[in-house]
Amino acid sequence: MQIGQSISKRVVVIGAGIGGLTAAALLARRGYSVLVLDQAIVPGGCASTFQRKGFTFDVGATQVAGLEPGGIHHRIFSELEIDLPAATPCDPACAVYLPGETQPISVWRDPQRWQAERQQQFPGSEPFWQLLADLFRHSWAFQSRDPVLPPRSLWDLGRLVQAVRPDTLLTVPHTFTTVGQMLRAYGLLDRRLKTFLDMQLKLYSQVDADQTALLYAATALSVSQEPQGLYHCRVVCRS
Ligand SMILES: Cc1cc2nc3c(=O)[nH]c(=O)nc-3n(C[C@H](O)[C@H](O)[C@H](O)COP(=O)(O)OP(=O)(O)OC[C@H]3O[C@@H](n4cnc5c(N)ncnc54)[C@H](O)[C@@H]3O)c2cc1C
Repeated sequence: MQIGQSISKRVVVIGAGIGGLTAAALLARRGYSVLVLDQAIVPGGCASTFQRKGFTFDVGATQVAGLEPGGIHHRIFSELEIDLPAATPCDPACAVYLPGETQPISVWRDPQRWQAERQQQFPGSEPFWQLLADLFRHSWAFQSRDPVLPPRSLWDLGRLVQAVRPDTLLTVPHTFTTVGQMLRAYGLLDRRLKTFLDMQLKLYSQVDADQTALLYAATALSVSQEPQGLYHCRVVCRS
């Protein structure tokens, strides 16, 4: 009995990226004996850093979301009962220089300040931004209830159904809409706005506005403002 129990409590996690490390830490917290293996010599995967000639570079991830109270990393660190990493709020989250322009478009952390900036930069586009804000509100609430997507088992399906609320259904008609389609639906043909969105979305979804799903963009473009917001984590230098 004891042997059987100890065997069932042992887990090997392949991959020490943020996903593997999070799974491993949560399993360890629940009493599992966890071994994490990675092909690389340092943990972190795409969220790791490397050093060259005295400089520290991010492998990939530079901006962290979910450190605010209720955010995913905040919840995980709370469950693990360890302090959040030292982090600096990103404000602006991005300073976007459009081709040929010398002044950046600043994506401010404060929602009102960002609204004023975009109204000045892209006159007439506010209904589009308000739609994004509405979709973000509904889908963020849905995501915060921990649905499993796509569902691959009955348990997953149960989690998904439990996360749905009436306002979630307001996002459904937009499931297959792209940002480019919605810009055209609003009659927004402004080249500067399209270029700005292309540049931002290539950063967050690796494709431009014509290929980015509207629901994904609603989250990616809205999470930079409070009460959410992006952070830079302080790098812990390895010797
Ligand atoms: C350029 C770039 C910029 C990004 N910017 C941001 C950002 O600003 N903010 C943000 O939130 N996200 C950003 N991301 C995304 C984010 O970095 C990733 O989504 C996240 O780090 C992925 O974590 P993961 O654990 O799922 O996978 P990975 O980080 O890929 O980790 C997988 C790990 O598994 C290991 N592994 C794979 N196969 C094996 C094997 N067979 N045996 C042993 N080990 C194996 C790998 O070595 C790796 O360490 C960025 C990504 C990139 C590439």
